[in-house]
Amino acid sequence: MALKLKKSKELFRKAKRIIPGGVNSPVRAFKSVGGTPLFISSAKGSKIYDVDRNEYIDYVLSWGPMILGHSHPRIVNALKKAAEKGTSFGAPTPLEVELAGMVRKAYPSMEIMRMVNSGTEATMSAIRAARGFTGRDRIVKFEGCYHGHADGLLVKAGSGAATFGVPTSPGVPRDYARNTITLPFNDLKAFRKICDKTGKNIACVIIEPVVGNSGCILPMPGYLEGLRKITKKYGIVLIFDEVMTGFRVSYGGAQKVFKIKPDMTCLGKVIGGGLPVGAYGGNREIMSRIAPDGPVYQAGTLSGNPLAMTAGIETLKILSRPETYKKLMAKSEALEEAMKKAAARAGVKTKFYRAGTMFCTYFTDKEVHNFTDASKTDMAAFARFFRSMLEKGVNLAPSGYEAGFISLAHSQADINKTARAAYQSFKDI
Ligand SMILES: *Cc1c(COP(=O)(O)O)cnc(C)c1O
Repeated sequence: MALKLKKSKELFRKAKRIIPGGVNSPVRAFKSVGGTPLFISSAKGSKIYDVDRNEYIDYVLSWGPMILGHSHPRIVNALKKAAEKGTSFGAPTPLEVELAGMVRKAYPSMEIMRMVNSGTEATMSAIRAARGFTGRDRIVKFEGCYHGHADGLLVKAGSGAATFGVPTSPGVPRDYARNTITLPFNDLKAFRKICDKTGKNIACVIIEPVVGNSGCILPMPGYLEGLRKITKKYGIVLIFDEVMTGFRVSYGGAQKVFKIKPDMTCLGKVIGGGLPVGAYGGNREIMSRIAPDGPVYQAGTLSGNPLAMTAGIETLKILSRPETYKKLMAKSEALEEAMKKAAARAGVKTKFYRAGTMFCTYFTDKEVHNFTDASKTDMAAFARFFRSMLEKGVNLAPSGYEAGFISLAHSQADINKTARAAYQSFKDI
């Protein structure tokens, strides 16, 4: 059964003439899995619909943000009301104070925070703050971690870059990349070694505490604790990039699950409820360097946008109900069990990893602890699996280096259908 994709194909042809690769973000182009990207007309709950009227159970969820499911009635209504009051003022509003208060309650390490418009802006600004605070230039990141597309962070940056085999993007001045030290994830020895050599020149360490941009890679016991200890010793600012894990692995993110207090945290995705938002924050001492309190400059015409703040506030209101995460975790566990069973019954060797509501299936029989392990898994098998699932009405992220996501709207029926599709697909590939 081949999908009918006439209109998507037509639109893709048109789009390629006017937009690079026909897409406004590279992985959307389906390059690593082949075929035509779906052009979407609408989405509701756990389902997404393309312009050819095909229906899919959606595990991409706009790459993470739609944790309540698509077009949740409460968000949509709140947005309508907010829009009638004006869509941007370029002045402070009560909404941004409210959202910041909700975020700080969930992330006490973010004593002071600023709202921005994307995850990229959040990480870029956090690094500037850390450099301004320490007076040091060097930064440390980890292979396979993606922190947005700012210069200097596009070094060995996981999914998008890995998918296209561009380890470091052209256009990034060598002098920028020179200040970025890249180390393997989950390797505390390598980190200690660098710090013993040049720790006093390192401004910050930025890390995805659970790597979601090379699939789903969990930190080994003691790893994050070790980073915390060593960074403290050398006066290095520890930045948790929780743009993906924030409100995904738990309401309080990975720092709550692993009980680590970073100096700074970056958020995005879920806190915008589907609108463009990012946030960065941390302890008072560092954040007091940000303009206009201090000399580190960072600004934004649309930052704290009232529509975006509204979507964020309404999303967090629902997420903060005590029963919400119980439901989310039960759904995630059910999916994990179903996917593992389907692979076992079909006799296909896979490793399924999950952190809260994010997950990944790797086609391998070996454990995956870092980017090198992930890149040795069978990506061709993933591509076949992806296409087969899509034909059966299940939308996974179009790359074996991406995480999948569950929402509050996914039902047991959705999970059952996904498991049946997975069993067939595992067998067919
Ligand atoms: C998505 C992501 C970013 C970038 O966020 P954008 O909103 O796409 O700029 C940064 N860090 C992590 C961990 C992400 O998953």
